Amino acid sequence: MSLECDVLIAGGGMTGTALALALARSPLRVTVVEARGAPENAGANDDDRSLTLSQSSRRLFDGAGIWPELAACGPALIREIHVTDAGRLSGTVHLDARDLGVDALGYVFENRRLAAALAGVLATDKRITLLSGARVSGYSDHGSHLMVRVTHGEDEHEIHCRLLVASDGTQSCVRELAHITAHTTDYRQTAFIAGFTPEFAAPGIAFERFTPSGPVAVLPRSNGRCGVVLALSAADAEQMKTVSPLAVRELAERRFGRRLGQFQEFGVPQSFPLRRILATAFTAPRVVLVGNAAHTLHPVAAQGLNLGLRDVAVLAELLEDCGADPGKPSLLETYERRRRRDVWLTSTFTHALVRIFSNPMPGLGALRGIGLALVDAAPPLKAMLALRSMGLSGRLPPLLQEHLT
Ligand SMILES: Cc1cc2nc3c(=O)[nH]c(=O)nc-3n(C[C@H](O)[C@H](O)[C@H](O)COP(=O)(O)OP(=O)(O)OC[C@H]3O[C@@H](n4cnc5c(N)ncnc54)[C@H](O)[C@@H]3O)c2cc1C
Repeated sequence: MSLECDVLIAGGGMTGTALALALARSPLRVTVVEARGAPENAGANDDDRSLTLSQSSRRLFDGAGIWPELAACGPALIREIHVTDAGRLSGTVHLDARDLGVDALGYVFENRRLAAALAGVLATDKRITLLSGARVSGYSDHGSHLMVRVTHGEDEHEIHCRLLVASDGTQSCVRELAHITAHTTDYRQTAFIAGFTPEFAAPGIAFERFTPSGPVAVLPRSNGRCGVVLALSAADAEQMKTVSPLAVRELAERRFGRRLGQFQEFGVPQSFPLRRILATAFTAPRVVLVGNAAHTLHPVAAQGLNLGLRDVAVLAELLEDCGADPGKPSLLETYERRRRRDVWLTSTFTHALVRIFSNPMPGLGALRGIGLALVDAAPPLKAMLALRSMGLSGRLPPLLQEHLT
């Protein structure tokens, strides 16, 4: 079978789906190829992560007209963020949505519900062609178009497209096919995540606590529960795998401190290895990288998906005015230029947090405390930090400006 489209999106995870939906109103013919099976099963995974969407991500989904469907998942609104360095009372930063005139600093979703909602919208949108249970396995460049090979069970198809978007995640096969290399930093840390009910409720407050053995974050959920993300060194993580969930719970409680009391009804912990992977280029002839395929970050600042959705906003804006050829070199050059700064700043900010706040070097603890106290006492610095965490710093593409709350 041979098919034809303007934009072929390889990977229907959250960034690929967001791009398809952002383009749905354009005249471009869009096809999504997704390796997982039937879309209605996309949310039926056991991923118990909490995922924080920033204000900029909300604006993107607002613009695509699908925020109401996502809001129906009942995200928890983050009204305050408390950042602390363990054992240093002076070292705290407190961000408050009211100081910034927004309803929330971010929106916490259950990952599986958000994934299911997005997959549901994609599957029912008649303007988008979806091939699920199919993989992009190769492509050849014919100058004016690409011929993309798609494996679907026993069958193989060729799809003729003008632009191939790699949204196929951290181990991107399209990135490799396009001969784009990537720099990898292995943090030698593993994130353990689990849901729990706090003994003392603190609705609407997200906590980020840095300790010498790694950061711990607690995010509010809408049903009175919370989600914890605990980063452990590889050696500690290995040990944890062989012990009970109770041990993970005790460690999380110890690291976090007494603020929320006991972590009750603790869920089954899940683990994720932590690496930073940065592609050396975001484009190749008729190919563009978005989301984790372009950059995979440590989850400490909850920036990974939000950064990927900003790739989507810029690419969707450029494609809106692309004329007859969505894969033309000038568009790819502009995309590369427009994304470099944000990706560099966000990945450097995240990397610095991991390195500075997980470092037991003598003297650094005191400096961290002073640094946090300074940020807390300086409104412009606090505002900058808040804007960065909401994804609203720097030059915003129109898609992220139009739908102000
Ligand atoms: C513990 C943890 C907590 C996190 N918390 C946050 C948070 O709070 N906020 C935040 O912004 N980010 C967070 N992140 C990061 C976020 O989860 C990722 O950045 C995001 O899920 C990446 O989405 P993606 O669509 O780019 O990639 P993926 O989710 O990896 O999707 C890639 C898709 O491509 C498909 N695919 C793969 N290969 C092929 C192929 N050859 N052909 C076709 N399809 C293919 C896959 O099936 C998959 O559906 C967190 C990460 C971790 C590990």
